[in-house]
Amino acid sequence: MDGTFNENDISRIVEADRAHVWHHLSQHKPYETSDPRIIVEGKGLRVWDQYGKESIDAVSGGVWTVNVGYGRESIADAVRDQLVKLNFFGGTVGSIPGSIFSEMLIDKMPGMSRVYYCSSGSEANEKAYKMVRQIAHKRFGGKKHKILYRDRDYHGSTIGAMACGGQDERNLQYGPFPDGFIRVPHCLEYRKHEQAGAPEENYGIWAANEIEKIILREGPETVGALCLEPVTAGGGVITPPDGYWERIREICDQYEILLHIDEVVCGVGRTGTWFGYQHYGIKPDMVSMAKGVASGYAAISCLVTTEAVFDMFKDDPSDVLNYFRDISTFGGCTAGPAAAIENMKIIERENLLENTINMGDYMLDQLSALQDKHNAIGQVRGKGLFLGAELVTDRATKEPLPEKTVGAIVADCSKNGVIIGATNRSIPGQNNTLCFSPALICTKDDINQIVEAVDGALGRVLG
Ligand code: PMP
Repeated sequence: MDGTFNENDISRIVEADRAHVWHHLSQHKPYETSDPRIIVEGKGLRVWDQYGKESIDAVSGGVWTVNVGYGRESIADAVRDQLVKLNFFGGTVGSIPGSIFSEMLIDKMPGMSRVYYCSSGSEANEKAYKMVRQIAHKRFGGKKHKILYRDRDYHGSTIGAMACGGQDERNLQYGPFPDGFIRVPHCLEYRKHEQAGAPEENYGIWAANEIEKIILREGPETVGALCLEPVTAGGGVITPPDGYWERIREICDQYEILLHIDEVVCGVGRTGTWFGYQHYGIKPDMVSMAKGVASGYAAISCLVTTEAVFDMFKDDPSDVLNYFRDISTFGGCTAGPAAAIENMKIIERENLLENTINMGDYMLDQLSALQDKHNAIGQVRGKGLFLGAELVTDRATKEPLPEKTVGAIVADCSKNGVIIGATNRSIPGQNNTLCFSPALICTKDDINQIVEAVDGALGRVLG
């Protein structure tokens, strides 16, 4: 191989991929006898692979990212124009698209004030942890440094983000992890029977109060932040129970704990509001976001804070340590904010938040209707176009459907031209929630096609 082959020479492309590309999240043994899949082109909700097979993508680029759909020329034009003008300048300086996008973003996030640019979801979360640690040192003699995270939540693939990760399966074999990250229980009401003491009623308040118990156990003077997903994504599409978020905010206020909301998946429209937390009328202190910020047209992530958090880093300029001593080289790429500006304009111009609410309701109804036909669907849940169907062997015991069977359902859909996903629980082998997050432009016809494929797959795989 000399690397000079043409993009139309598919067999050589597959050969090079098989020989040299290490795919994410993949066991490569099967690729010795079957071809790795290469996605070649996309338009709207549809993608084509190396053999020209068309699929409808019900998971926005596999991982909840392409919110405005594929093939957006206006984003490509905006990025191109910016790149030829200035592609990059890193370090301490600002940029024109960075400045414009910060104002657009803050306008959508009342109460928030500052945007810190970086390039992945994990990285944005790491920035938050570093801020919490530095605030602990500056204000609390290093004591208020602990960061609480929730069972089943995920915050990224770096070692720090994994220390803050509630999906044990992803962490196995990668320890040891840094200290000071403390786990709190999940809030999945459907599985409250697995949680000792969970009540019949007011589960949301109970689940939030369980976090308070942990804060009291650790000592509130040692806890700096609570980091939560607004709707847990990879951990099973977990919508919070009634009253949960309001009580969480009260607890954080009472014990002077920063509330860090990880909007890497929910951010920028996915649930039908600009941000997931906005469904619950609460105000965070820090918000991380990535995937939907530029719909994957460029790599960009942001950590957004209140002015109060920002102020803690500028109160004593005579102290040489008194600023956030952090950098992200690729936070200086201008393609990210240039793409993000146009991405946000598209969502506004095409009323995609409204479409997300309407199509999300429709898809929830269609998936719920499948429950009458398939006993394996234990619960359908979600918000906007961020939906999950938890599969069980028996509705009474709620025993998870084996992961292999869930995998066979996902594979059957894929074979029939519909790409869906499945989420991760903490327990190896128990990943049993099908995941749906089509682009925010989707129509009833698209949804019907997706739901029909799921219906067929459940029938074929489970008999
Ligand atoms: N937070 C959440 C909620 C995520 O789902 C993910 C990725 N799936 C991340 C953080 C990490 O983002 P990235 O892969 O861009 O580092």
